[in-house]
Amino acid sequence: MNDLCEQYDLDFKIIEEHLAKRSVRKILVEAPDGLKPLYRCLSRILDQDKYLIYYSSSPLYGSCFIDEQDALEKGFDLIIHIGHTKYPYSSKNVVDTIYIPAFYKWVPDNALIKNLLDRLKEFKKIGLVASIQHVRSLKIVGDMLENHGFVTYIGKPLHNDLYDGQVIGCDYSAALSIEKNVDAYIVLAGGLFHPLGLALSVSKQVIALDPYSNRIWDASREARRVLAKRLYWITMLRNSGFREVGIVVGATPGQYREHLVKSVAEISFKQGVRVRYIYSKVLDRDRLVAVDNALNLDLYVVTSCPRLAIDDLGDFYKPVLTPGEYFMVFNKSIAKYVYPW
Ligand code: SF4
Repeated sequence: MNDLCEQYDLDFKIIEEHLAKRSVRKILVEAPDGLKPLYRCLSRILDQDKYLIYYSSSPLYGSCFIDEQDALEKGFDLIIHIGHTKYPYSSKNVVDTIYIPAFYKWVPDNALIKNLLDRLKEFKKIGLVASIQHVRSLKIVGDMLENHGFVTYIGKPLHNDLYDGQVIGCDYSAALSIEKNVDAYIVLAGGLFHPLGLALSVSKQVIALDPYSNRIWDASREARRVLAKRLYWITMLRNSGFREVGIVVGATPGQYREHLVKSVAEISFKQGVRVRYIYSKVLDRDRLVAVDNALNLDLYVVTSCPRLAIDDLGDFYKPVLTPGEYFMVFNKSIAKYVYPW
């Protein structure tokens, strides 16, 4: 299957029904980079003469990144967002937005099943979670495991915007809801991102299964390596103290977390730590270096996306913490690692 449109299930009926009901002229279509090739599937069903369609070239790491205010100002009537469900922590929509998840079509082969069963020998009760692309494969894996004598659980997320069993980089509530019942988790996801976040969030073994590569790997081992680095920063800050913190505030509506910013600021004030606010739509190493050159603060706390501190800036030359880690610095009684906030 070379045509990406054939590799994913996309529910275009939602778009057709929406367009039939509303008066729409100008449409913004957006997707994360890995799924931008799916634009071509959409262009097959959208009438290019009837609508003025803009395809976004911007990076898009999650539905937290949707900038509806900007779309409103530019006169878009509709945003079609491919690849994610609605961000559960977003405020209300100011522009009509349709979310079209892209479900990867996948069935595990016999060799993969054998490999997975070998990995699960010491476990009996298995929690199943997935990133949105693989949520529909959870039942396939669950049925297969049940046929081999396992008991499986698919957890309910806290937010109705997410599917049963779905995890996102900053919300693992579907996994946490079944943590007491299970011996281990299987997470269906491509790459490191979701398995690592899950392994940082739960205390049970996490086995990652990547449906794109059919690779099975130990996410808990990777999390232990990352955790050692995170705990090093926390201990170092507890011991050496610090005077000035930069609080990174997200500029997109989904990443603008006013309550969290206030909590981080308040605990800083109480401890006599001075606060500077850094307003940021996209934060990467170069941008943080530019800010650090200007302000020369002791550390940074990222309230926009918690994964920036861990994945992208985990090796920055100064501590860059998630809010949960920052609270741990001041509260020595917290026994378990706090992720994300
Ligand atoms: S992990 Fe980061 S990019 Fe992903 S949904 Fe959460 S805030 Fe957005």
